[in-house]
Amino acid sequence: MQLSELLCEHCQGAGLEPRAPSAALCRFCGTLNELAGLVCPDCEWVNADFEAEACARCCRGLRRQCPGCSAANWSGADHCVACGRSLDAVAMLGARLAGDSAERLNALAREAGAIKAHEAEASQRRLAQLEAIEARRQALLADAARSRDRQQRGLLLAVAIVALLVMGAVAAVWLVAAWAK
Ligand SMILES: [Zn+2]
Ligand SMILES: [Zn+2]
Ligand SMILES: [Zn+2]
Repeated sequence: MQLSELLCEHCQGAGLEPRAPSAALCRFCGTLNELAGLVCPDCEWVNADFEAEACARCCRGLRRQCPGCSAANWSGADHCVACGRSLDAVAMLGARLAGDSAERLNALAREAGAIKAHEAEASQRRLAQLEAIEARRQALLADAARSRDRQQRGLLLAVAIVALLVMGAVAAVWLVAAWAK
């Protein structure tokens, strides 16, 4: 939910400003309102996940490391929760850029993973197509071989019949000749 849509629990005014990871100050009555999530100091989206590393709406980092003691702070904090050091605008900007690029890197990695999965799927499909084509080709070859066999058997049979007929005719002629003598 957006912080600007929330009303102050005390005066019902719509003018809450982020003051802490999960608290917003009413600019009308000064009441510190507890929030049901981690507010993004940039776009003022209230992230339901208190452990979120980045804002679900604008993707900016919600965590900032203290340059002095390395403690993890909310990215909107003015001072480190551990050592009290001022987290100035320059450090804030640097951390935000780091959060940004980390998020971008994560997005790129996710994208690359998705592309790889897509490519693997496509090549699997291509392989299946090639296998189907090969199977069809093999079936056609087997068919051709079978019909060639049939043709050869038919030819042999015809040759055998012709030979028998010729032999019969020769025998008949020979018999007739012998009988006529
Ligand atoms: Zn108020
Ligand atoms: Zn945000
Ligand atoms: Zn610190």
